[in-house]
Amino acid sequence: MKKVGIIGQRGMVGSVLMERMRAENDFSNIEAYFYSTSQVGQEPPKESAGDALLDAYSVDELKGMEVILTCQGGDYTKKMHGELRNSGWKGIWIDAASTLRMDPNACLVLDPINGQGIRDALNKGVLDFVGANCTVSLLLMGIGGLMKSGLVDWVSTMTYQAASGAGARNMKELLNQMGYLAKHSDFENTSAHILEIDRNVNSSFRNSDFPDELFGAALAGGIIPFIDSELENGQSREEWKAMVEANKILGTDINPDMKNIPIDGTCVRVGAMRCHAQGLTIKLNQEVSEDTIKECILSSNDWVKWVDNNKAETVKGLNSAYISGSLNIPVGRVRPMNLGPEYWNMFTVGDQLLWGAAEPLRRMLNILSE
Ligand code: NAP
Repeated sequence: MKKVGIIGQRGMVGSVLMERMRAENDFSNIEAYFYSTSQVGQEPPKESAGDALLDAYSVDELKGMEVILTCQGGDYTKKMHGELRNSGWKGIWIDAASTLRMDPNACLVLDPINGQGIRDALNKGVLDFVGANCTVSLLLMGIGGLMKSGLVDWVSTMTYQAASGAGARNMKELLNQMGYLAKHSDFENTSAHILEIDRNVNSSFRNSDFPDELFGAALAGGIIPFIDSELENGQSREEWKAMVEANKILGTDINPDMKNIPIDGTCVRVGAMRCHAQGLTIKLNQEVSEDTIKECILSSNDWVKWVDNNKAETVKGLNSAYISGSLNIPVGRVRPMNLGPEYWNMFTVGDQLLWGAAEPLRRMLNILSE
């Protein structure tokens, strides 16, 4: 059994990873040790082969592991990955953070889409395996079959990303904002006029004690159309990731027989708790029937599901509140657009903590045990 060091298990991604590993009995295949950056020496999860949480900043305590799986975040990876490699460590590093994704020596993991690429990378001696950006993984789990078909010229994706995408503390901040608005709006007062309630909500956003320390703005009752840092070309870093990471997973970035597929759009944080959604405009390079599109999409993997384009099925079938906790990736609102017969509208949603984060990592661990 491989000795696996797990870091970040109490964070948002880590908690979902633990839940999934328990559900799939993954711990029976590994000897797991748990680390922390802030709670060293405290009691570890019950699956731990060690008696206490180890020090995630100690190269000596990390070096004994054959595999390290971290969901601790980019700052941690920046600090520790280099130190550990420089110490001569040749184990497998599996990571949820973006730090190493575009490193030419790192392989992105989303095995229903690039399983062969992952196995080839392992055979070539690649040691760093990184989960892709959550919206990228969900996009490819949804329309990966179409992207691989050679039919797609470009994709524009407008995202609707949940609070949990920013981490455990941000999720609580969204709830705090909701609670604050409920408390200060007087909405339960049956005699209050709706305009008065609305004014109370609006003035609450500007109160100095409105809880927006992490998001920097109102997410309950508002949306935030900027995620991650600013780039010089006007994109947010989240928007930049879509094209580079999706093409890296598809192999279109290096295969001379394949075309890099342009992907761009606006990434928006919305007040959903869990699950990212994406409204897509897809430009195909020829006119095809909806049946052809459906076949391409559904043949890609076991989790993608088709939602017929009608209101009754859409309002729940493509609603993040109902997809939360599910591995299914529904795709719907599929219709040709007024823009021309080669332009298609679609909408997809998925739990970004599952296929967008934890699931590809735990499956990578299982590939190592094959
Ligand atoms: P997170 O919830 O903020 O957790 C990261 C670490 O923060 C935890 O491991 C924990 O480390 C520490 N922490 C401090 N206070 C905490 C609290 N009150 N509750 C829980 N943890 C607390 O971050 P995350 O969303 O899991 O993201 C981890 C990495 O995955 C990031 O690089 C992120 O970009 C990436 N990612 C996230 C998502 C997503 O949807 N959230 C999707 C794909 C990729 P200690 O125990 O050591 O203190």
